[in-house]
Amino acid sequence: MLLTEQPPSSAKNTVGFVLVVEDEAIIQEAIALSLREEGYSILLAEDGYSALQIAKTTARLDLVILDVMLPSINGLDFCRILRHEGNNVPVLMISARGNESDRIVGLEVGADDYLSKPFGMKELVARCRALLRRSRRDFVANNAAVYKFGDITMYPDECRVTIKETEINLSPKEFRLLDLFMSHPRRVWSREQLLEKVWGVDFVGDSKTVDVHIRWLREKIEVDPSDPKHIVTVRGFGYRLG
Ligand code: CA
Repeated sequence: MLLTEQPPSSAKNTVGFVLVVEDEAIIQEAIALSLREEGYSILLAEDGYSALQIAKTTARLDLVILDVMLPSINGLDFCRILRHEGNNVPVLMISARGNESDRIVGLEVGADDYLSKPFGMKELVARCRALLRRSRRDFVANNAAVYKFGDITMYPDECRVTIKETEINLSPKEFRLLDLFMSHPRRVWSREQLLEKVWGVDFVGDSKTVDVHIRWLREKIEVDPSDPKHIVTVRGFGYRLG
């Protein structure tokens, strides 16, 4: 069974999209509730196969919380397949088998962090925050420049974007998109080029994904998103800055 929840009204201001893969309903509900309270948008799966389908087809996924013992495809195999396919979304593995060797196996198959059951929801939320911070920081690790365009200032090494000195919240994908535009002023990017640069060559989906994220980005950085002055549409080709 596959349940997804992406309330469109909250998508714009979400802290991040988190896929919770857990077959025990009580634990799944507790995790989802705690993360929703923190402003995350939650997608749910109860087995590894459904989770893989979601991971492959969801345009924006910032974090996966992954149980190890799962029906169909278990958490370890899920992680192996995900990484083999080039998907680098941060994974927080959760398991009742909390001994050291299980933890090591989890990290070896590509999980970024490991939490033993039972755990407190405050710790889970803190680990999620840390993983998201780290993934945003990793992305800009080699980008120490500061970019300016109009009122927008981007500090890639600090993962910060300000508009008129006021910091704005961007999702990792929005941040990467803006980073591409800001670091290549006036270059025109096709949707396919943006997909490849931001989502990766193995991303399964279409170029509408790009349009959706550009729309979200515009809602955050444009004075009038319906008449954008920063991220401009180049008809018949794609987008450019300014
Ligand atoms: Ca389980």
